[in-house]
Amino acid sequence: MSFLDLIKKAFSSPNSDRNYWVHVRCDRCGEVITARVDLYNDLSMDFDVKQYRVHKVLVGTGRYHCFQRIEVTLVFDKNKRLVDRSIHGGTFLAPEDVAEAKAAYDRAMQEAEEARKARLAKLAARASESEAKESLSNPQF
Ligand SMILES: [Zn+2]
Repeated sequence: MSFLDLIKKAFSSPNSDRNYWVHVRCDRCGEVITARVDLYNDLSMDFDVKQYRVHKVLVGTGRYHCFQRIEVTLVFDKNKRLVDRSIHGGTFLAPEDVAEAKAAYDRAMQEAEEARKARLAKLAARASESEAKESLSNPQF
């Protein structure tokens, strides 16, 4: 191996086996959150059962005013293979379902935004209508 290769190797991204990715969907708003678990640094050993555990609290961007906390617990065996998991406030997503879930969330948020705008427009129309009626019933103005 050349000196250059050694340098490249030293600066290359860490082994992807080191990362475990967890994808969840918020039960309240449907936002999809992806979190990384560093299998070297994030796990703590449960010596009684010889398993590793990690507990994560995930919170979405808050972009649509949802601040739901999603609590995730992952359990790995001594070879760092996932053996158990639990979640509160959200639902686990398989990696292949992430894109669809994200699209559904974006669609839902867009529809909610359009409905809000339509509601405001209706309120504004009603307000100017009643203003017009008021000025008709008060001819002195
Ligand atoms: Zn949410």
